Amino acid sequence: MSIQENCFDRIVAAYPAQLEHRSLWMQSWADLENSVLSRTVDWFLKHWARCPTVAEFKAETVNERNRITVAAQRDRMNACPNCESGHVVIDWDKAIVHPCQSCRPEQFDRWQRGEYRPS
Ligand SMILES: [Zn+2]
Repeated sequence: MSIQENCFDRIVAAYPAQLEHRSLWMQSWADLENSVLSRTVDWFLKHWARCPTVAEFKAETVNERNRITVAAQRDRMNACPNCESGHVVIDWDKAIVHPCQSCRPEQFDRWQRGEYRPS
C-alpha cells in the first residue's frame, strides 16, 4: 500500500461516510512529499471533528511544511557546536549576542547588514 492510500484510509476511518472522491484526493496529493502528507493527516485527525475538503487539506499542507521547517531549524540549532541555541554570545554580562553563522545563516546575514531584529 502506498503512503497516499494509507493516508486516505486513515482519513476514511476517522471520518466515516464523508469521503467519496478517492481519485480526486489522490490527484491532489500527487505532488506532496510523503512526510508532509502523513503529518498533515495526523494534524487533521487530532484537531478536526469533521472531514476537511480537498482544498482545506491542501491549504494545511502549507502550514505543515512551515512547521517542519521550523522544527528542522530548531534541531539544527540544538545540534550546532558553534553557538548557544542559535546565538553566539559576545558578552555574557551585557547579554550581547548575534545569530549564529553556522546554523542560522539567513539571520546572520541580516544581522551583518544591520537589519536583524531579535524576535
Ligand atoms: Zn549555531
